[in-house]
Amino acid sequence: MVIVDNIGKVSIMIKKYDVLVIGGGPAGATAARLLAQKKYKVLLVQKSFTFEKPCGGGVLLKVFDEFALDREKISHQVNTIKVVAPSLFGVTVSLEKEPLAIVDRLEFDAYLRTLAHDEGAEVIEGYFQSYDGQLAYIKSSSLQLCIQAQYIIAADGVNSTVRKAVTGTLPKRVLTLYAKVQQPLTAQCEFWFGRDIAPGHYAWSFIHNKGTHIGVVCEDESNAQHYFGRFCDKLGLKDTPRARGYYIPLWRDDLYRKDNILFVGDAAGHVSPFTYEGIYYAMRSARYAVDAIVDGDLDTYKQLWQKNLKKRFKAMELLRKLLLRWDWTIERVVKLLNTRSVHQAALRFWSGKSTPSSPLQVTRKIIRLLSQKMI
Ligand SMILES: Cc1cc2nc3c(=O)[nH]c(=O)nc-3n(C[C@H](O)[C@H](O)[C@H](O)COP(=O)(O)OP(=O)(O)OC[C@H]3O[C@@H](n4cnc5c(N)ncnc54)[C@H](O)[C@@H]3O)c2cc1C
Repeated sequence: MVIVDNIGKVSIMIKKYDVLVIGGGPAGATAARLLAQKKYKVLLVQKSFTFEKPCGGGVLLKVFDEFALDREKISHQVNTIKVVAPSLFGVTVSLEKEPLAIVDRLEFDAYLRTLAHDEGAEVIEGYFQSYDGQLAYIKSSSLQLCIQAQYIIAADGVNSTVRKAVTGTLPKRVLTLYAKVQQPLTAQCEFWFGRDIAPGHYAWSFIHNKGTHIGVVCEDESNAQHYFGRFCDKLGLKDTPRARGYYIPLWRDDLYRKDNILFVGDAAGHVSPFTYEGIYYAMRSARYAVDAIVDGDLDTYKQLWQKNLKKRFKAMELLRKLLLRWDWTIERVVKLLNTRSVHQAALRFWSGKSTPSSPLQVTRKIIRLLSQKMI
């Protein structure tokens, strides 16, 4: 239905869809694509087509096969990563059969939205404003859209407007300060650890299209700039570049759905609690949400997610808490990465090929690891 104002301009439009997807990042674009493949009538609403999500753009290469993506979209393929301990002792780790792809997020997100569009989803630039339990209100250029949908997928990221509107909460989060620098500081991906630059978390330096993408993850927001400056010193940068801040959600396993609204990706906090990779997990959660809609039972979403990913996330969270708290544990683990068995086990875990069966098993493995004789 279209409502026309007294000078003949269309001002409000009420439209019906099977599914309204809000947010056109990896989670939302994937959900819209998969639903359209199943012949659902889908509207994907993305705030801005020129928004570039702050991101290192690192994603396991297997994502391209798992989601049938074009490898042409990879800007760099990284076959080794460097891990740097607080003492500056660094180990270069071969990724062997699990290389990392670096994508340009502006291009990658646009590509995912194009895939959704090509499958038949309607994709528009618009902003979700509110939801009254029946209609979702979307502002799109001069139009006010009122959307009636059987299901809504909230994929609008860590600052989720949908989550705020319908639950009054946002995901728990941690701040990152990051910058793109012109200098080619590395030809791979580097992860730097230590209490002086990123207590309890890590700092990174990733090869990027136009130089290097650097950043720190930091809970102590009032000192974040200080940690970022120290990291830049360690990288040998003469001047500290101007950093921008953005949040990464901390996984809490607390929200999957409210009524007919499913929360996916960053909006649900589905980011690895150790490495903070979120692209792949956003796409996986989108797939599970779509499976639940197709199944006709929305609780299937939580069940699928927990069955496939919960143990893994729990193990990662525990690893971060046990290993990244003290510099001595990090120092030891980085040295042990030179050992073939530890290197292999770390790769298997990171790539999802193995997951410890319980927190107790993780703790035992860590104690065994830390008490291993150094060569
Ligand atoms: C500095 C930094 C570095 C990172 N590096 C990596 C990395 O190297 N690898 C990795 O895997 N992960 C990384 N992450 C995490 C990753 O960026 C996110 O986990 C991932 O983007 C989540 O995808 P998403 O689709 O859930 O949300 P997003 O990518 O945030 O997409 C949400 C979309 O919703 C849109 N939106 C927001 N509000 C509205 C609204 N009201 N109406 C309509 N649209 C709206 C936004 O414009 C956005 O495009 C990093 C994060 C940060 C902050």
